[in-house]
Amino acid sequence: MTIGHKKQIEILNNFLKKGYIPHAFLFLGPSNIGKTTVAKFFAKKILCLQNKNNSCNCLSCESFQRSLHPDFFIIDAETEIKIRDIKEIESFLSTKPYISKNKVVILANADLMNFFAQNAFLKTLEEPPQNSTIILTASDINKFLPTVLSRLLKIKFYLVDDNDIKKSLDLKNLSKEDVNFVFKMAGGRPGKIIELIENKEKLLKFKRLAKEILNLKNRSLAQRFSYTAGLIKEMDINNTNKNQLFELLEIWIRIIRYNLVLDFVKDKSLNKKELSALFAMEKVYRLLKMSNLNIKIAFNYLMLNI
Ligand SMILES: [Zn+2]
Repeated sequence: MTIGHKKQIEILNNFLKKGYIPHAFLFLGPSNIGKTTVAKFFAKKILCLQNKNNSCNCLSCESFQRSLHPDFFIIDAETEIKIRDIKEIESFLSTKPYISKNKVVILANADLMNFFAQNAFLKTLEEPPQNSTIILTASDINKFLPTVLSRLLKIKFYLVDDNDIKKSLDLKNLSKEDVNFVFKMAGGRPGKIIELIENKEKLLKFKRLAKEILNLKNRSLAQRFSYTAGLIKEMDINNTNKNQLFELLEIWIRIIRYNLVLDFVKDKSLNKKELSALFAMEKVYRLLKMSNLNIKIAFNYLMLNI
């Protein structure tokens, strides 16, 4: 099921209608908004042997639905993509399709490709095997070599409207308060919402962390420092495993931003303290993404600014 992205899907459907499908796409946009879901939807249609309808049950569509399609290959990376991953793609593409007329590869989070992987991948892009389509998804265009970028057809994806998400998801089992919270945290990213409604434990954790950061404002500096020291330990946050760290910072940024807007609507003026807290958070987030800034120092700096 795809949520939102009507324009992008229309562009892709037009390629199918014309019967001309470019060799390599780059789906570009924020994470968790459904780029890979749309890529799979497109892959299924490229491979389809009959009418390319959503309800088609040809051999290809059936195989795809069961994740058993021999002409489809996906790498959904969470960590660095290396040369050996690219070699796997090359070897997959080196044989003829078994049941469909084409072969399709999805390389999700392709901005995780290291320099060597990109250079290896360039060869595949320069001489793409016939009847093959490669779909890359990424959130950061700056991570690509210009030579790689120039060979990709770029399609931009944007955050999805909350109403479109609400129409598509079953939220009956969630309290009104939880629905509000989940949408607040997701900010137009259906993937994030699905993650939170399917994982009650995670939802509870997110709610607790959001509440705690707001309460910290009224605590002494010593209490704030000891709180973040505890969090670093509890969440096992360190420089080699930053996923938890960015998840935490995103919760903080979203809840503070939401409160800032709420207060602005109420008081018709910007709360300077909240604004500077938000700036500090966003700054630290960027710095931690780009460098090996000491996490404890970063957190202490934030605690001085909330
Ligand atoms: Zn089909």
